[in-house]
This record gives sequence, C-alpha cells and structure tokens, in this order.
Amino acid sequence: MSNFLSENSSNQNTNKQIAVLGAGIIGLSCALQLQQVGYKVTLIDQDEPGLGTSFGNAGLFAYYSCQPLTSFSALRSIPGMLLDNESPLSISNGYLPQLMSYGWHFTKACTSTRYRKGSQAMSALQKLAPAADLDLFTISNSLSLIRSQGSLALFSSKAGFEKYQIKELTERKRLGVKMEYLSHAEVQEIEPNLSSFHEGGVYYPSSRHTVSPIALSQSLFETFCQQGGQFIRQKVKKLLPDNNGISVQTALQNKHFDQLIIAAGAASKNLVLQLGLTIPLVSERGYHLMLDEEPDIIKRPIGWVDTSIFITPMTDGIRVAGTSEFTDPDAAPSNIRSETMLNHAEKMLGRKSQLTKTWYGSRPSTPDSLPVIGQCKSDKRITLAFGHGHLGLTLAGITGKLVTQLVDGQKTDLDMEPFSPERFM
Ligand SMILES: Cc1cc2nc3c(=O)[nH]c(=O)nc-3n(C[C@H](O)[C@H](O)[C@H](O)COP(=O)(O)OP(=O)(O)OC[C@H]3O[C@@H](n4cnc5c(N)ncnc54)[C@H](O)[C@@H]3O)c2cc1C
Repeated sequence: MSNFLSENSSNQNTNKQIAVLGAGIIGLSCALQLQQVGYKVTLIDQDEPGLGTSFGNAGLFAYYSCQPLTSFSALRSIPGMLLDNESPLSISNGYLPQLMSYGWHFTKACTSTRYRKGSQAMSALQKLAPAADLDLFTISNSLSLIRSQGSLALFSSKAGFEKYQIKELTERKRLGVKMEYLSHAEVQEIEPNLSSFHEGGVYYPSSRHTVSPIALSQSLFETFCQQGGQFIRQKVKKLLPDNNGISVQTALQNKHFDQLIIAAGAASKNLVLQLGLTIPLVSERGYHLMLDEEPDIIKRPIGWVDTSIFITPMTDGIRVAGTSEFTDPDAAPSNIRSETMLNHAEKMLGRKSQLTKTWYGSRPSTPDSLPVIGQCKSDKRITLAFGHGHLGLTLAGITGKLVTQLVDGQKTDLDMEPFSPERFM
C-alpha cells in the first residue's frame, strides 16, 4: 500500500499538519495511511488507542456482508422482535427521541430502489476491502494477529436455512460473494466441537478474523508512533475552523491544523453538529462475553443466524458477541442481554462455560447501513470517516485508503457519492 499511495500522492501537501480525531480502528487506519504519503499526522483521543468500540468486536472481517439492514421485510419484523425479551434487538424508551430522524431515514432506505443502490455501494466497497486490509496488516506488521479460515453462518432449522437461501443468499451470490452451503455433517467435519444446535449453513471462505482486536489496534498505533506520528490523549471539546485551518480545542490546549479527519465513532454526531452538519448517527450497542475455553476448540468465527450471535476464537478464550440495543452510550448495561447470549453460546458449544468478562460498546450506526466517508462540501479541509455500524473492523483498511486519496487529491478507487456526508439532508 505504501507504494501505491505514495506513487499516486500529489506530494504538494506533505508538510501539512493533519489531525485525526479518534484512535479507534478507523482513525488509526486513516492516520497510518495519511502518514504513508508524507503528511504530518497527529492522532487525538480521550483514551488510549483502540479502547472504544474497536476493542470489543467479534474480530470478523465480514467481506460477504454487502446488503444493507434496511428492507421492508426487516421493517416488518421489528415490532415482533421488540416484544421478545430474548430477541437480539431492543430499543430503550429514553433513547426514542434520538431515533426519530434515524427511523425516518431508515424507512426511506427500505424502498427497493434505495435498497438496491445501497447493496451496490456496499458491494463495491467490500470488493476493495480485503486488499486494503492486507496492505494495512503488512505495513503495521500485524499479520500474525490475522487468520484466514473463513467463517460460518449456521441455522437452527432446515426451513430457516432454505428461506434464507431463497432471498438473502441468492442476492448475495448475485453480488459476487463466494460461499458454500454445508449440511450439518459437513459443518461438524470442519468444526467437530460444535453441538448439534444447527441444521447446517453457509461457509464464507474469504472471511478473515483477528485473534485480538486490541492487539491489532495497538500494532497500528505502534507503527504510527515509530514513523513519527504524534498522539494527544485529551478529550476534544471544540472544533473551530478559521481562514488558515482548523483549531482543535481540548480542556488543556488549542492546537491548529491544516486539515481534520473526524473518526470519533458514535461520538462523531455531536462533533459534526458543531460544524453545522446534522447526521442521523445513532448508538447501536453490542455486547461481548469472554468464555474461559481453549481458543482452538473452534477454528473460525461461527454465527448462529437465528440468534444473531457470533463465537470467535481469540488469544484469551472464546468471544461471544452480538445484540443490537438502541440506547444511550452511557445507559446501564442489560443483564438479560448477556445472560441470553451466554445461554446461546452454551447451546452452540454443548456445555456450560466459565464467563470471565462482559463488555459493551456503541456501534456508530447510520440509517442506510453505509458509512460516512467524505469531505464536507462546505469545508473540504474537514473529512468525515465514521458510521461503520456492524462493519468497522472489516472496512477500516479501505476507509483509510479512501480518506487518504480524498485528502491527497487523488482519484478515489470508487464513486464516493453513496457515502457522502450530505446524503441525509
Ligand atoms: C459487539 C460488537 C461486535 C462487533 N463485531 C464486528 C465484527 O466482527 N466485524 C466488524 O467489522 N465490525 C464489528 N463491530 C463493529 C466495529 O467494532 C465498529 O464499527 C468499529 O469499532 C468502529 O470503529 P471506530 O474507530 O469508528 O470507533 P471507536 O472504536 O469507538 O473509536 C472512536 C474513538 O474516538 C474517541 N473519541 C470520541 N469522542 C472523542 C472526543 N470528543 N475527544 C477525543 N476522543 C474522542 C473514542 O475514545 C474512541 O477511541 C462490532 C461491534 C460490536 C459492538
């Protein structure tokens, strides 16, 4: 990657100072790739890098996931799911006002034309993601944290599997995703330690996973620092664009930059509001549990589609991840969610497991399931990179690459219009 981006760099702006706000996996990827083409980059985060939502994901590079979550069938299933305590979806009453604009744009995105356009845009982005990730792993020396064993998505019943094949999977195949249908026996052959909770499912051979999301973030950060990157650990309070650039104000200092990248995950919504931009970004909370199991009892991330949970082998045990809880990022966690997830994971593994840790964090989610990647039309010195929802880890490499191309004035690898910050206006 370094070669590709440097070869195409305009090389005129390389003494310019750029601030990247947010040191999650998206901000880290942007910072490192901007640095590759010679920019002087400062990362700013209130916490140590990688400790936000990027800490707790399922570790799956889900390159197969190219359909938006918006469809009329999804919309129809929402009321039933909300009434079921054990369903993976919930909305807290106190968060409803925050969801008004999101809900309106979600419903609009469900029309067949918009859904099709959304699938095409996500599919185009996903096609570029594996190579961009590989470049990122290579420059950050993090290949040892990556496994290429594919992933599984399994179904409780044959009827459920067949129904999914007719619509979602046929559509996914049409979008060019590689997959194999496996029977119960074929799944057990490659994952012999699973119980018989399933009736087979889909194998996605091109998925990768990381055995430690935090180690991956740290590895990107270490490379960034070794190459001269600066890190400021402070909470950003104000963004003040002026004629010469943008001032970034924290409680302790006011620092001036030529350009700014906003990659602050779910907190980005309020930061861009200061710049006069309203984006219906919401916090879609997910949980993970760590089970004290030998990681090698399974070889790859395994999803149970009916319950929307994944189990992934990680260096410190088996991680169980899932749920969509639309709630304030600071709201108290729900014990029902984690108990239900533990029950499901134990069913998958066919035995009781020792729980070692519970974690929750906010996915930065947009109503049309597409990330926001682009320069603000009113001020091109400000580039936005957030809203990756369920796919932030998967799309980190390609997001950093596209942001670098935009900032550096290069031709982007794909049409950026579907990801435009202004698309909700
Ligand atoms: C349970 C769960 C499972 C998931 N599984 C997967 C998966 O398997 N694959 C996948 O691709 N994606 C997955 N995701 C989604 C993925 O984790 C997120 O999309 C991704 O982490 C978002 O990264 P980010 O860098 O945008 O945000 P974050 O990681 O949250 O980083 C944002 C950073 O900004 C900082 N910040 C915010 N406001 C300020 C401020 N004012 N001043 C200074 N710093 C600030 C925060 O401290 C934080 O470090 C999962 C998510 C969850 C919750």
